[in-house]
Amino acid sequence: MDTSHVPIDRLRNIGLIAHIDAGKTTVTERILFYAGVTHHLGSVDSGNTVTDWMPQERERGITIVSAAVTAHWYGSQINIIDTPGHIDFTAEVQRALRVLDGGVVIFDAVQGVEPQSETVWRQANQYQVPRICFINKLDRVGADFLHCLASLRQKLGANAAAVQLPIGEEEQFEGVIDLIAMEALRWQGEAGTEIVHSPIPAAMQASARHARETLIEQVAECDDALLEVYLEQGDIEATLLREALRRATLKLQVFPVFCGSALHNVGVQPLIDAVVDYLGSPLDAVEAEGVKPQREGDDSPLQKIPCPPNADVPLAALVFKLVADPYAGKMAYVRVYSGQLRSGQQIFNPRTGKSQRVGRIVRVYADSRESIDGIYAGEIGAVLSLKDSVTGDTLCQREHPVLLENITFPDPVIKIAVEPVSVKDRDTIALALQQLTEEDPTFKVQTDEESGQTILAGMGELHLDVLINRLEREHSVRVRTGKPRVSYLETVSRAANKVEGRFVRQSGGHGQYGHVVLSVAPAERGSGIQIENRVVGGAIPKDFHSAVEKGIIEAAETGVVGGTRITDLTVTLLDGSHHTVDSSELAFKTAAMLGFKQAVLQAAPRLLEPVFKLELLLPKEYIGEVLGQLASRRCEVTNTHLRNDGTEQIQALAPIAEMFGYATSMRSMSQGRATYSMEFAKYA
Ligand code: GDP
Repeated sequence: MDTSHVPIDRLRNIGLIAHIDAGKTTVTERILFYAGVTHHLGSVDSGNTVTDWMPQERERGITIVSAAVTAHWYGSQINIIDTPGHIDFTAEVQRALRVLDGGVVIFDAVQGVEPQSETVWRQANQYQVPRICFINKLDRVGADFLHCLASLRQKLGANAAAVQLPIGEEEQFEGVIDLIAMEALRWQGEAGTEIVHSPIPAAMQASARHARETLIEQVAECDDALLEVYLEQGDIEATLLREALRRATLKLQVFPVFCGSALHNVGVQPLIDAVVDYLGSPLDAVEAEGVKPQREGDDSPLQKIPCPPNADVPLAALVFKLVADPYAGKMAYVRVYSGQLRSGQQIFNPRTGKSQRVGRIVRVYADSRESIDGIYAGEIGAVLSLKDSVTGDTLCQREHPVLLENITFPDPVIKIAVEPVSVKDRDTIALALQQLTEEDPTFKVQTDEESGQTILAGMGELHLDVLINRLEREHSVRVRTGKPRVSYLETVSRAANKVEGRFVRQSGGHGQYGHVVLSVAPAERGSGIQIENRVVGGAIPKDFHSAVEKGIIEAAETGVVGGTRITDLTVTLLDGSHHTVDSSELAFKTAAMLGFKQAVLQAAPRLLEPVFKLELLLPKEYIGEVLGQLASRRCEVTNTHLRNDGTEQIQALAPIAEMFGYATSMRSMSQGRATYSMEFAKYA
C-alpha cells in the first residue's frame, strides 16, 4: 500500500448518496475493487487477485461497515465516507454532509428520482456539496436513461447534464458513449477490468452529437470563456470542456450525469475518473469554521475561528463517527480540517476538558489497514483507542481551543421500555447499548426506578426503531418493546411567595431540625432552574446552604404533577431558622425538598410537551388533505410555499405526542409521494 500522503489537491472526500436499493453497496464494492486492481497491476499474480477478491470481501464485509474507506486512483486518493441511508436524523445527515467535499448520487434507472432522494438533495444544496450523478441498473427491464435525466431536472430542479449516453438499454445495454471524448466504451474480462474504446456506432452518431451540443451549451451558459470559444469555433476541445465542467460542478451550477450497471461491471471506472475530474479537493470546499469554547453560563457572543485546509496551522479535527470494530476495538473516524493530528501527540477535547496522547492512527482500505504517522489537513483517518470521545467531538490543541460543532444535544423526547428476549440477550444488552450511546449522542439509556426496566430514549419514533433494529442486526440482541411514550417536563405558570418548608423531629436524644422559606417564579423556556440565595444574618448557617440547593435540585427531578422533571423557574431562598444541636445537612435538605414541592404546587404547575419542527414536501394536489390531517393532530402551520417545481412545502410545529404513526398515514395518503423531516424544536 502507498503510505505517503498525497498532495491535498489530489484528495477527494466523497459520499455515495442513494435511496435504498439503488445500488450504493454494489457501486462502493466495484470502486474499491477497481482501485485495488490498479494497485496490483504489474505484479505477477494480479490475475488471481482480480477474481478472488470480491467473494472474500463480501464474506468479511469490513469495507461495507467502515465509516470511511480509502482508495487510490492514478495518483489521487479517494476517501469514501458512509452516509446514513435514512434521512430522519438531521444531526447525523448534516454531520455526514459537512465531512464530505463532494457526493456521488446514485439513481435506479427504472425508478428515477425517489421521494427520499429529494430531501437529501435539498440538504446537500444547503451545505453546498457539489455532486455528480450515476444512473445505475441500465440493464434492468424498464430502465430509461432519458426519463431519469428528465426527472432529475423536474423533481430536483437540478441542472443535470448528461456526460454519457447508454448504448442500448434493458437487456440490450452494452456500454456507454463518452460525450466528451466522443467514443464508445465497452467492458470486457471477467470483472469488467478491460475497457474497449471504439468509434460511436453509426446508429447513435446523430443523437450523440446532439447530446454533446446540449452538454456544451449547459456548461457554456455558466462559463463566459467557454461560451466565447464555442461561438467562435463551433466546438470545444475535450480538455477545455472538462475544465469548464469542473468549475461549473464545483459551483453547483451543473450536475454531470453518468450511467452504467454496477452489477454487470459497466461504467464504474469512468465514474471514478469523474470523481477526480469534477469533484473538489478540500481546497475547493467551503472553509470550515469553529467557535471558541465558552464556559457554561457565559452568554457573551461566540467568537468564530476560521479553520483553513492548511497542515501548518493549529489542529481542528472532528470525530464524525465512532465504530466498534470487531478486530481493532473502538475506532474514532476523524476528519482533520486544519493542522495535523499525529500519533504520539497530546490533544485536547474541549467538551471534556481533558487532554490525551494519540495512539495508533490508521487508514482503512478495502481489505487492509495501514498505520500512518498522522492525519493532515483535509484527510480522513481512524484513531484507535481514543478515550472519552463521542461522535461530534472536536479534537484540538490545548493552547488553541476550538469547537467545530457547537453541540448542545437536546434531551431525548421519546422513550420506550425494552426487555431482552432470552438470558443470552440479557448478558449482552448492556454492552451493546453502551456502544450505541457512544456512537449517537442523541440516544440515552435509563433504568426505570420503579419497574427496573431498561428505557431507551431518543429523538423520535423512527430513531428508536432504527436503534432497536441495530441491536438485533449488529449486536444480535433481541428485545421485546413496550409502547413509545413522550418525555414531558413540568414548569410553573405563576409565582408563589414565601412558602415554608419545615422538617422537625423530636425523638428522645438527637433530633432533626431544618427550616427554609423560599419563593418560586416562572422563567424563560430553556433556562432550567436558577437558585438565588438571599438569606442574611446566618438564619441558615453557611454549612447547610449546599444541602438546601441539593434538596431543591433533587425534588425537581421527580416533579409534582406527572412524575417528570421540573424546569424553567427561579427559586429564591429568603429565610429560615436552625437549631444548634439538632440541625443537620439531611434535615435542611429534607426541609428544602418539602418547601420546594409545596411552592410549586401553589404556583399552578403544568406540563410542557416536546414540539417538533415538521417540514413536508408534497405534490400540490394533496395539500388540502395534508393540512386537514395536521390540524387534527394539533399542528400549527407556520409557513406554506409553492416551489418552482410545483411541489408544496409546508412547515409546521407538531406536538410529538400526536405524531405517533404519522409517517405511515401520511405516506399512504399521498401514495408515498410526500416526504417529511422532523426535528426537535422546543418544549411548549
Ligand atoms: P443499496 O441498498 O443502495 O446499497 O443497494 P445494493 O448495492 O445492495 O443493491 C440493491 C440490489 O440491486 C441488489 O440486489 C443488487 O444486486 C442490485 N443491483 C445493484 N446494481 C445493479 C445493477 O446495475 N443492475 C441490476 N440489475 N441490479 C443491480
